[in-house]
Amino acid sequence: MGSREVLRDLPSIDRLLAVSGWDALPTLPHSVRVEACRVVVARAREAVLSAANQAGGQDLAAQSVNTEVLAAEAIAEGRLAVRPRIRRVINATGVVLHTNLGRSPLSTSAIAAITRVAGTYSNLEMNLETGARDSRHARLGASLARVLGCGDALVTNNNAAAVFLALSALAGDGAAVAVSRGELVEIGGSFRMPDIMRTSGAQLVEVGTTNRTRIDDYASALADGASLVVKVHRSNFEMVGFTEEVGIAALASLCREQDAVLLHDLGSGLLEASPQLREDSVTASLEAGADLVLFSGDKLLGGPQAGVVAGRADIVERLRVHPVMRLVRPGKLTLLALEATLLAWERDPCGGEIPASVLIQRTEQQLQQDAEELLEKVAALEVARAWQLEIVSVESTPGGGSSAAIRLPSRALSLCPRDGDEESLAGNLRAADPPIVGRIEGGRVLLDLRTLLPGDLDAIVESLAAMPLTTA
Ligand SMILES: *Cc1c(COP(=O)(O)O)cnc(C)c1O
Repeated sequence: MGSREVLRDLPSIDRLLAVSGWDALPTLPHSVRVEACRVVVARAREAVLSAANQAGGQDLAAQSVNTEVLAAEAIAEGRLAVRPRIRRVINATGVVLHTNLGRSPLSTSAIAAITRVAGTYSNLEMNLETGARDSRHARLGASLARVLGCGDALVTNNNAAAVFLALSALAGDGAAVAVSRGELVEIGGSFRMPDIMRTSGAQLVEVGTTNRTRIDDYASALADGASLVVKVHRSNFEMVGFTEEVGIAALASLCREQDAVLLHDLGSGLLEASPQLREDSVTASLEAGADLVLFSGDKLLGGPQAGVVAGRADIVERLRVHPVMRLVRPGKLTLLALEATLLAWERDPCGGEIPASVLIQRTEQQLQQDAEELLEKVAALEVARAWQLEIVSVESTPGGGSSAAIRLPSRALSLCPRDGDEESLAGNLRAADPPIVGRIEGGRVLLDLRTLLPGDLDAIVESLAAMPLTTA
């Protein structure tokens, strides 16, 4: 058969739409079905033409097209087209707060809070006693201030927005802002401190050198007219060797003397000092004298994506009334989840209700037990014959803007593909349902037990069991 005959035999869209397989997807819109059929037919046409090119006019019988096969492909295509873009994924990376995987899972009470009000009206901006308009920020701001022991607080869409708002409100008129050269960081590819400064209208004054900044460096910037000092937590890198930086307490007293404002971009919102995390906590920074502390809601706090600004009431008020506030305000679901997250921390200051905190605190012994259970269950699967399995000691990290140096001893199930292609294996695990995201290390794929949520272990086993054998 020549290519013209094969192409003529391609089923029409109507023919593909008529197969009974679609009955399994009764709610799939007609337009999606048509598009899926078009895609599949176009792909088949391409395949025929390229085969004809290669065959140089020889017989193309092998390329003859089967309506049943194309219809099945079209139905699969249609299914994919309406699948939600954001899906549940199993985080076996060992990074607890993984920005690419949505950072923190919410606590049960945060989920319940969202569910209670998501489908109803709420008093988001109404004072029910007076019937008058109320601020969506007021009540949560007061709870935050109580929990953190500071004058006042407000919430934004994320921490980057909080930094932008603070710079706009406190230095957007071109005021000079002193930042150590060692802290002009980039976070997550698009958040670069110097760019945010410029966009806000503030004038960046770099102080010190990359590796050493002293109190005198800040003092001369303030003497030259800087009215704001910003200290930025080094969230994703570490400096070692011949280094020096100035702590919050020393900066705070300098700023007080010079009538300047001290802003601490902490990134990760660890509320109280934790022995495991050797991190600057929000309360420690406020106690040391920072006027404003800024942090994310979905890093160590373990809540929804949000930014929190906490500190002196008069300065928080300047931010609250600034026009940028309206641009960066959080939605009601965020406020609900954040409030519930805070209450959960108040009920249990050890973070026992916060999933990310529970994962960070899991002991090696628990992880070893889980690893043994996972190994046993996976080893019983047919797909596992393609891999050499073993339990290995690894190190996981809290992630999410906590110090890059913190390592948590953990266990992983190592899948070493017998054909040696660990990249393909990792890809096939991501293509499984639910997708499993591990990490590649030394020719193997590691599934770190630290970051598995309750139920994930069995979900991994089910996902692997449903994987086509050919992709293992
Ligand atoms: C993570 C981080 C940010 C950005 O916070 P988002 O909530 O992701 O917008 C800003 N500053 C520091 C120091 C951070 O660690």
